[in-house]
Amino acid sequence: MNYPESVEMVEVGPRDGLQNEPHLIATADKLALIQRAIDAGARRVEVASFVNPHKVPQMADADEVCAGLPMRDDVTYIGLVMNLRGAERAIATGRIHQLGAVSVSTDQFAMANQGQSSDGSVAAASDIIRLANRSGLTAQVTIGASFGCPFEGEVDPDRVVAMAKKLVEAGPVEIALADTIGVADPLHVERLVARVKAAVAPLPVRVHFHNTRGTGLANVWAAIGAGASVIDASLGGLGGCPFAKGAAGNVATEDVAYMLARAGIGTGLDLDRLIDAGRWLGEIMEKPMPSMVSRAGGFPKKE
Ligand code: ZN
Repeated sequence: MNYPESVEMVEVGPRDGLQNEPHLIATADKLALIQRAIDAGARRVEVASFVNPHKVPQMADADEVCAGLPMRDDVTYIGLVMNLRGAERAIATGRIHQLGAVSVSTDQFAMANQGQSSDGSVAAASDIIRLANRSGLTAQVTIGASFGCPFEGEVDPDRVVAMAKKLVEAGPVEIALADTIGVADPLHVERLVARVKAAVAPLPVRVHFHNTRGTGLANVWAAIGAGASVIDASLGGLGGCPFAKGAAGNVATEDVAYMLARAGIGTGLDLDRLIDAGRWLGEIMEKPMPSMVSRAGGFPKKE
């Protein structure tokens, strides 16, 4: 295996992490979370989604969050959008650098998530990517349920590769594979990442794992070994999935950062600050966070 010297991390806690939390978080706390992530070294942060506030009350303050973002040259703010209306809202804030589009690998999940077929979700994501590029922004795109579907079960890897190739035509900065419901295993990850990487080269492959069944870190490791160079993670391991009952959140940023630091793979993140942020988040959320490194602390220092 050839492992890279460094990977890029995307902090998704303020959006994917919070979105599935029933307890509504104040705008000021969301901004504090974003600031803590940046202070710990995050340089790409998914800050909000621009979706129907009746469907996703946690994201109803997306415009206010954007208005409060610290503007700095070295941080890319990502706004997740499901359609052109959301894209226009995100662009209108003047604070979002990159739109995040989602397409889903199966018809039943795409219908439940976005009210369209899987092909329809590829077309919609492509429209969003093109709008971003025309508007002077960039766009990332994620293929949801790449490793398994809550409704249809197994997902054909050929389908995911074909979607990735189609999405590349619209001009995203990378292609992401998401294990939306946390069912992937490392061998599946290794094989699919390698295939998609070959199909979309020279575009990078990003991965997005939920730790629903405890395979999150193993999947991150397998993805990096297979050539993924961008990793989504969420401080504290915040989050869940409305389509997976009892689901744990995303892989925790501090757990990924610990593993990679010990392996000599750089992330640009400061582990002590991440741990502080993870513990702070537990207080804000009024519950212990799933992250194990925030509980245990980092590697022991010589006394
Ligand atoms: Zn997710």
